[in-house]
Amino acid sequence: MSKDYYKILGVEKGASPEQIKKAFRELAHKHHPDKSGGNEAKFKEINEAYQVLSNPQKRQQYDQFGSDFSQAGGGSQGFGGFANGFGGGAGNAGFNFEGDLGDIFGDLFGMGGGRRNRSAQQTGADIQIGLTISFHDAVFGTEKTFNLEKDQPCSHCKGNGAEPGSKIHTCATCHGSGRVTQNIGFGIGFANTCPTCHGEGKKAEKNCSVCHGRGVTKEQKTIKIKIPAGIDNGQSIRLTGEGQVAKNGSTGDLYVTVQVIADPNFVRQGYDIISQKEISFSQAALGDKIDIETIDGKVKLKIPEGTQSGKVFRLKGRGVSHVNGRGRGDQLVKVIVKTPSRLSKKEKQLFEELQKISQ
Ligand SMILES: [Zn+2]
Ligand SMILES: [Zn+2]
Repeated sequence: MSKDYYKILGVEKGASPEQIKKAFRELAHKHHPDKSGGNEAKFKEINEAYQVLSNPQKRQQYDQFGSDFSQAGGGSQGFGGFANGFGGGAGNAGFNFEGDLGDIFGDLFGMGGGRRNRSAQQTGADIQIGLTISFHDAVFGTEKTFNLEKDQPCSHCKGNGAEPGSKIHTCATCHGSGRVTQNIGFGIGFANTCPTCHGEGKKAEKNCSVCHGRGVTKEQKTIKIKIPAGIDNGQSIRLTGEGQVAKNGSTGDLYVTVQVIADPNFVRQGYDIISQKEISFSQAALGDKIDIETIDGKVKLKIPEGTQSGKVFRLKGRGVSHVNGRGRGDQLVKVIVKTPSRLSKKEKQLFEELQKISQ
C-alpha cells in the first residue's frame, strides 16, 4: 500500500506549493469521475495525495515518516506504528477514515471508532456487589434489604448538566457533532468521541452546581432482593435495571454475588448436607434411636445393632432445596463410634467380661 504522493501528482520531491496545486488541478480535471473517461479510483488517489502535500505540516510528516507510513498499511505489525502515534492533538486531519479505518482501529484499540457514538455517561453501567448470607438462609431462601449508593439523574439540572437558567452552547471543540478527528500521526486521523462534551455536542455555559456537569449524582437507594432457596456460595443474582442510572435515564443491571458463611455443623455437597455424629460403643453394638441435628431441627435416627464406625445414614429430604425446582437433597450422617478413653471400675469389669465371651 506504499504510496508515493509526489509520483501520483507527477511532481518532484522539492516541488513548490504552486507546482503541487497546478499538478493537482490538471490531474483532477482529467480524472474527475463525472467526466467521460474519468476514473474514480485515480481521482481519489490524486485527492489523497493533494490533501497531504498541500498541507505544510502533513507534507513534512509524510516526508519524514514516509517509509514508516507505508509499512503501516502492510499488516498487523505496522499498526504498532500507528498506535505510537496516539495522543496527537485533535484536529482535522487530511483523511477521513471514519467509515473504514475508524472501525478497524476501534476494534483493535477498544476506542470508540467508526459509527459507534456512545460514552460511558450515556449508558447506565452495571454494578457488581457481594452479599454475605448464613448457611440457613442459603438453604431456605430469604429476603434482604440494603442500601446502595449509585448514580441517579441529577434532580437539580434534570440530567442535562447545566445550572438551571444558564445557556447551553454548541461544543466549541467538535462544533456540535460530538466527534472529533483524532490525529494519529502521519497526517492520518479517525473520528472519536469528543473529549470536551463526551459526545453530547453541547456544553453548558455554567455547569450544574449540584452534579458539576455530570448530569448524575450519587444517591443512596434501598435495594430489596429475594434470595432463592438453594443458592450456593459464589452464585450471582441479576437485578435488571438496578445498576447505575445514566443522565438520560438508561439503566445498567445490578449483580449480587452471594457468599455463604460456613456452618460448624453442616457442609454442603451439591444439594446434600453432610454431617457427623458420634455414638458410643454400646449404641453401636446394641443399636439405638438417637437425635440428629438437621437444618430443620432435631430428627430421630435409628442406629441398628452392630453399626460400624464410619457408616453413613441418609436422612431423606433434609438437604438443600433445589434452586430451580421442587424437592430437596438429603442429609448424609456419618456415624463415628467413640472409643471410651477413661473407664470406670464397673465399666472396666464389664468390658473384661465381654472380652472373655468374644474369645
Ligand atoms: Zn464536543
Ligand atoms: Zn446537575
